[in-house]
Amino acid sequence: MYGAGDVRIDDVPDPRILEPTDALVRITRSCICGSDLWPYKTMEASDEGRRMGHEFIGVVEDTGSAVTTLRRGDVVVAPFVFSDGTCDFCAEGLHTSCRGGGFWGAGDVDGGQGEAVRVPLADGTLVKLPVPEDDALMPSLLTLSDVFATGHHAAVCARVAPGKTVAVVGDGAVGLCGVLAARRLGAERILILGRHEDRTAIAREFGATDVVAERGKAAVERVMELTQGDGAHAVLECVGLEDAFKTALRITRPGGAVGRVGVPQFEALPAAVPTFLNNVTVSGGIAPARAYIEELLPDVLEGRLEPGRVFDRAIALDGVPDGYRAMDDREAVKVLVKP
Ligand SMILES: [Zn+2]
Repeated sequence: MYGAGDVRIDDVPDPRILEPTDALVRITRSCICGSDLWPYKTMEASDEGRRMGHEFIGVVEDTGSAVTTLRRGDVVVAPFVFSDGTCDFCAEGLHTSCRGGGFWGAGDVDGGQGEAVRVPLADGTLVKLPVPEDDALMPSLLTLSDVFATGHHAAVCARVAPGKTVAVVGDGAVGLCGVLAARRLGAERILILGRHEDRTAIAREFGATDVVAERGKAAVERVMELTQGDGAHAVLECVGLEDAFKTALRITRPGGAVGRVGVPQFEALPAAVPTFLNNVTVSGGIAPARAYIEELLPDVLEGRLEPGRVFDRAIALDGVPDGYRAMDDREAVKVLVKP
């Protein structure tokens, strides 16, 4: 990406092993993230550009001498942050704060929207998938890299549990995955706040029981109506805009919790007083996807959940610039890239 609205396909030198803990991965599936749309809207023009993409599945082509758990030919999924898996933060399940970790596309690390990447800390980062590289489950497996793990994180942080009423703010891919994650964790009632009918239709298939198409104040009133004036026990904020966040806080039942996973496009957390008076917990943040992959994998492998339904378009690498445009224009929910 060279600036707002300026995504190009460039030839760059092939990645190679730089550290003994590296692996080289040939990418077989990647995708465009809702969070990629923030720089797509606002990035200042730059001559060097920035490598994009942080969700991918691929095949190990080579490994450094210190890599012990992976070998050439393994099909692997990468979480959207790489991590060593050995430090104290990783041990606590907070791989996004890994002392040795980092982000795809930064420094000399490749982005996922390409043909191949050098994966640092390969043993800690990559999770082997027991399927062939063109398995039909690929779209759903790819969501473990970010969106499904992020929706799950929102649900965990919002303390979704059996019998609870859950509200999900946002009908993008993460919001839809939040619905699926809430159902998986036993929520009794799941309200989705969204106004795109094609998306809320998927939400219903994922387990949403009510659709709130209103926005702002009217949405708050509608949720209150649906919850006998109390609000939801667990609210998943999956947008990142201040208005969405305020809505999330206003529809949380006293004593309830908000799990926020939308990348915040604002500085200060609003509603200090009402959340104080209502003892509302505000939790969440960047999802430690690596901590959740093994837990979520069996439901995907065994076909009980199909989070890959959030992909409604598949393109080759040369279609990536138009894929950004399609997601930004709300023409596509989430675009899968098959290099
Ligand atoms: Zn670590």
